[in-house]
Amino acid sequence: MNNLHLRFPNGLAKCLTLSYDDGVEQDMRMCELMKKYGIAGTFNISTGNYSPEGKRFEPGRVHRPMTQRQSLETYKDEPLFEVATHALHHAWLPDIPLSEAVHEIIEDRRNIESQYGTICRGHAYPYGKYSENIINVLKSCGIAYARTTVSTHKFSLPENWLILNPTCHHKDPRLTELTDNFLNETPKLSPLFFYLWGHTFEFESDNNWEIIERFFEKTGGNPDIWYATNIEVYDYVQAFNSLIFSADGKNIFNPTCTDVWISLNSKSTCKIPKGEAVSL
Ligand SMILES: [Zn+2]
Repeated sequence: MNNLHLRFPNGLAKCLTLSYDDGVEQDMRMCELMKKYGIAGTFNISTGNYSPEGKRFEPGRVHRPMTQRQSLETYKDEPLFEVATHALHHAWLPDIPLSEAVHEIIEDRRNIESQYGTICRGHAYPYGKYSENIINVLKSCGIAYARTTVSTHKFSLPENWLILNPTCHHKDPRLTELTDNFLNETPKLSPLFFYLWGHTFEFESDNNWEIIERFFEKTGGNPDIWYATNIEVYDYVQAFNSLIFSADGKNIFNPTCTDVWISLNSKSTCKIPKGEAVSL
């Protein structure tokens, strides 16, 4: 049997994704930086919490949700960005009636889909809070993955996409060490998946935009890294998991509409084209 491992599109062994919450004004600056460095990521928004047009915030307030118009201008039609749910009103989901939780998820999903012209299947848990019941609600509402706030300090792909634990928050004291490890390692077996999360208003309240700029300077423009939104990684991994193998493992059929790459015996990388079979 061949020793097989997932490789990302074009045979890459590393993937970087971002996840930023709450749809605040500082996302505008973040999005400009992401475009400058070619970094992809997901923005988790509560469409019931858009600010009304013309709203004026009290001086010193850093958590300033964007208006719907600002959000559309910031995220819409940009391939580097995915917009995902964060509950309609940023509800503390495990504590509210389940029927309300369903409403919080499905209405946010419907709004995102109609406003941004997408199919929305991602979620980030408000306050990082979830329960078994809430996971079932997400499944019933067609949500494919949901991010927690628990750092793994690892680069492994999630086992359970509805309990998607990130690598770390941008404020994590180990960010530099993790970034260097991610860049310096040459994976022989499993691929490396770096998942960074946070809120962009924290860069303003902590006065440390340089943290993310430095991170982008280091990790951007690297031909060894696949820059992907959360749902792109999810969909790609599903395609990999859909590969069909002969009993001896020598014939592989890819029944999906996505080209899939595998690493063979840590020696070579092989493409299994969509809809085709490959003999090893
Ligand atoms: Zn939030």
